[in-house]
Amino acid sequence: MEMIRVNLSSNSYNIYIDKGLLERLGDTLVKEKAPCKTLLITDKNIEKVYGSIVTETLKRNKFDVRLVALKPGEEQKTLETALTLYDACFDHKLDRNSLIVALGGGVVGDISGFVAATFMRGIPFIQIPTSLLAQVDSSIGGKVAVNHPRGKNMIGSFYQPKAVFIDTETLSTLPAPELVAGLVEVIKYGVIKDAELFEYIEKSFYDILQLNHHALLKIIATSCQIKAHVVEEDEKEKHLRAILNYGHTIGHAIETITNYKKYRHGEAVAIGMLYAAKIAIDMGLTDNTIFERQFSLIKRLGLPLHTGLKPEGIVKILYADKKVIAGRLRFILPTKIGEVIISDQVTEEILYRVLSKPL
Ligand code: ADP
Ligand code: ZN
Repeated sequence: MEMIRVNLSSNSYNIYIDKGLLERLGDTLVKEKAPCKTLLITDKNIEKVYGSIVTETLKRNKFDVRLVALKPGEEQKTLETALTLYDACFDHKLDRNSLIVALGGGVVGDISGFVAATFMRGIPFIQIPTSLLAQVDSSIGGKVAVNHPRGKNMIGSFYQPKAVFIDTETLSTLPAPELVAGLVEVIKYGVIKDAELFEYIEKSFYDILQLNHHALLKIIATSCQIKAHVVEEDEKEKHLRAILNYGHTIGHAIETITNYKKYRHGEAVAIGMLYAAKIAIDMGLTDNTIFERQFSLIKRLGLPLHTGLKPEGIVKILYADKKVIAGRLRFILPTKIGEVIISDQVTEEILYRVLSKPL
């Protein structure tokens, strides 16, 4: 078992990563939290495969557990759903010392964390992320939220879990397109911070796709470590944390224009990373190999590379974004594999030049 410590003074916590961890969850959890009333929140897809395994291990360890399964999907991440979850908290008589367990992908993690952060001004919660995206990204860092009709993740907070439990075996039931989209964030960590991780993905490509345990352990643990370090340096997203947004500036614009329907998050980010690399090359910050190596990995993953979107549309969304500071866009640009800079030097002219050519 790998254990990664996220050091955030009084909000510090451990991330446990292992194969088959789910069946032994209760045994590891009692080291972190005494048995108590527990609300286990999941979605119906995940309930089918893992609901009873997790309930059993918690019960065996004397946790008084009740399970609530939401409909799957981002549309459920609303205040209305949160209200039904508060009802479940009241019905099961949760108090300040109780526990909320989030078992699922990013949607379940975000809304469960939001409910945990707000019920009685905050009760303990743990994350058991079951999608690769949630394992390497959304379950770490303490961002919890629900969507508002006027914007995604607009109602939320920073609220750290008491612990995160990652079972690599859960990926065996994750639909392949979800796995591949999650891998994009792992590639992102390689580009922003870790050339060795990037090379490892290139070399162990098939081991990863075949869900070889050692390969998964390596990429998940390394990604968690990188995200943990960045979050430790910058818990509330002031500056350094921005580097995690590599590929996300254009990625978000693509998601917004297509109403979050056409592309999975990772798919949009993959396109965003490739354009960010092209921008860096256009500005003379780096050479073509930085693009070629990312392009080759993303192509091997079979991700869509053609958006058919007009540069005007993307540029308009970029300038409407809340991250524009004094009329300037902020981009994370790679200078070599493993290193990025934060730049406000990307002009409209550069954007049009780069975005008007296919990848
Ligand atoms: P993400 O984790 O990508 O942010 P979701 O929480 O919506 O987003 O999860 C993506 C989809 O994958 C959902 O339909 C969810 O039910 C499903 N899912 C997540 N983890 C697993 C798993 N381990 N096995 C099967 N399906 C899963
Ligand atoms: Zn992302």
